[in-house]
Amino acid sequence: MSKQVINILQLYPRDMNIYGDYGNLLVLQRRLEWYGYEPNILHYNVGDNFPNDIDIVIGGGGQDSGQEVIHADLLSIGPKLKNLAEHGVPMLAVCGLYQLFGNSFKTLEGKTLTGIGILDIETHGTPERLIGNVVCQSSEFGEVMGYENHSGQTYLATGVQPFATVTKGAGNNAADGHEGARYKNVIGTYLHGSILPKNPKIADFLIHTAVEKKYGGFSTDLIDDLLSDLARETARERPR
Ligand code: GLN
Repeated sequence: MSKQVINILQLYPRDMNIYGDYGNLLVLQRRLEWYGYEPNILHYNVGDNFPNDIDIVIGGGGQDSGQEVIHADLLSIGPKLKNLAEHGVPMLAVCGLYQLFGNSFKTLEGKTLTGIGILDIETHGTPERLIGNVVCQSSEFGEVMGYENHSGQTYLATGVQPFATVTKGAGNNAADGHEGARYKNVIGTYLHGSILPKNPKIADFLIHTAVEKKYGGFSTDLIDDLLSDLARETARERPR
């Protein structure tokens, strides 16, 4: 019997892929295979044709210059991404892409990059870069850990659910203790590293949601995450 396919759209791997973000795709690929599904990777870069039949969307961070490179193209596919988000397609947007999934990002140089408005958030570039290891607590995923490096400080509109609450590090900004944002099955986060190898529960959320949406159910054996647990212990102890 042919395996059930899950299509993963990787947004802008050429221009938005720093601090190990590509590792998120590798984790989803491997875990889908271990669960007995067939991962089909769709790389999308500036100017490409936007694919159909997308089950999971992920994308990494980038320097202000990278965000400027993809900006016009992202606005052109924005309505499609927004429609997918409204229909519950699971998404993980990291740092620079997280900022552009919002309403706008005003860079340190004063350029305003309009966002695609999936997340009701605003970001402003500041001279103080927020850099270092992060540990935070999520009501959905428990303890989450990663690495941040950004000039942008992000503010959630009233009523927007943060992804987590910071216990070590900065997260969205240097003030309110929130990290990331949640909307339907969309996760926006500042956490690089990459985030999924050390936080497999988040990977499983994306996978379970996609499989249940496409095939109506998800039943499989648990994966032995010993190595990930060991990595978490090390990450938790790392100095800021
Ligand atoms: N360029 C953005 C900032 O500095 C995002 C950086 C990133 O993706 N790490 O805030």
